[in-house]
Amino acid sequence: MELAVCKFCGQTIAEEYETKEKAIEEGTMACSCAQARAYQQLRERAQAAKLELRDMLLKDDDVHNVKAVEQVIFDFLVSAVDLIAEDKIYKITLGLSSGGKVDMKAGSGGKISLKRSVALTNKREV
Ligand SMILES: [Zn+2]
Repeated sequence: MELAVCKFCGQTIAEEYETKEKAIEEGTMACSCAQARAYQQLRERAQAAKLELRDMLLKDDDVHNVKAVEQVIFDFLVSAVDLIAEDKIYKITLGLSSGGKVDMKAGSGGKISLKRSVALTNKREV
């Protein structure tokens, strides 16, 4: 068991976790030092973005006739949300073989913007 510890200031709290990784994550999420608070905000924003992404991608959108994407695509984009939140990438565009694309990017003030677009084409030949 590992004692929870903040990865920024090293403060420990009296909680134990199975793995060192989890102990550091939980310790940092519970700490109130300035860096930990900034980190907590970032994690909360990433969490909110993942919920929006789930809503946007894993449900059929009957109004716009847009189908849900496969779970594996969603999982890939969830990892990308973390990379954006951690400021390792600032945007990603994923072209979907099933049609359309998903854009995600870091917006102003630490926001994360998500956009799914599907090109509508109505072509007829007679
Ligand atoms: Zn701390």
